[in-house]
Amino acid sequence: MAALLSLEGDEEVGALFDAARSVKAAVCGRGVALRGLLEVGNVCDKDCFYCGIRRSNGAVTRYRFGADEIVRLAEAAAAQGYDSLVVQSGEIESESHTRMVEETLRKIAPLGLGVTLSLGEQSEETYRRWREAGAVRYLLRIETSSEALYGRLHPADHSWARRVECLRALRRCGYQVGTGVMCGLPGQTAEDLADDIVFFADMDVDMIGMGPFIPHPDTPLADEPIDPKARLLLGLKMIAATRLYLHDVNIAAATALQALVPDGRERGVLAGANVVMPNVTDVEHRRLYQLYANKPCLDESHGRCRGCMERRLAAIGETIVFGHSGDSLHYRRRVSAKGGES
Ligand code: SAH
Ligand code: SF4
Repeated sequence: MAALLSLEGDEEVGALFDAARSVKAAVCGRGVALRGLLEVGNVCDKDCFYCGIRRSNGAVTRYRFGADEIVRLAEAAAAQGYDSLVVQSGEIESESHTRMVEETLRKIAPLGLGVTLSLGEQSEETYRRWREAGAVRYLLRIETSSEALYGRLHPADHSWARRVECLRALRRCGYQVGTGVMCGLPGQTAEDLADDIVFFADMDVDMIGMGPFIPHPDTPLADEPIDPKARLLLGLKMIAATRLYLHDVNIAAATALQALVPDGRERGVLAGANVVMPNVTDVEHRRLYQLYANKPCLDESHGRCRGCMERRLAAIGETIVFGHSGDSLHYRRRVSAKGGES
């Protein structure tokens, strides 16, 4: 896999993408599942060195949606035809936050949306409460499977081991579990990325979200050099190699790909991804939720990302898959192998 991730020639890289896309077509069909991404708050207790909304970034105007605002945006997403939502924010561990999310989940349950949460590290008890309130999927990127590299990208009180333990707790609570990494991190090698794919397999995850690392100007990693073309290519090769190794997992084409080139997410689909997550947050708050530089779709004309995504996917011969909120085939196989228990 490290050799695949190091390919450079157009022809070889093209063959890698074609192989991954045919596995995707054979396993998931010629279609892409859409999930509406709701960025519900940029308040974060963490201080990850790479992230634009890290606690120490005093330049960010902070916001935090309450249950009613999230319900209103979820209703708007359902009215636009979404059957699945990702609710993401900075990390907050508190009883009032846990209760707000719980209440929100119960309020949006009648909409029948498949809800994915991406709210960071929490106690197993909190994960269980949110699962019981109706969330079905959880995304928690490990960021890198190398504990040493993780240590260099986070303050000393951030723990790689706890993140792994959270992924295990999520499984015990019955979620479809997603993880992922950033590609192109300072000091990261092709071997590290190959190990990341093995980590996904060892953890037996159902979904993967991977994207290129893009330096944010107000972070300690602001001055890390980036060659956008090479970074994009690395992100795409990582999608392709993961599809070839894992076959039946859901793989998202991250928005960060589109920060590098306008058609970045379509290229992710052409390299084997089967999920895209158009933004359904209002544009005013989207602007306050900038994890990396050059976030796309920030002006008013981008109020509705769905139609745009539909056209973009049609242009590459893909359609949007509807239906019971796009469970990963890996998850369905995993559950049926266990006689229905998740
Ligand atoms: N707070 C939650 C969810 C929001 S952050 C969490 O951390 O899990 C979502 C993801 O954004 C992170 O997992 C990270 O992989 C990604 N991210 C943060 N900063 C980034 C950057 N500079 N470039 C690319 N991706 C970044
Ligand atoms: Fe917070 Fe997530 Fe950003 Fe880390 S990556 S600072 S946990 S929002």
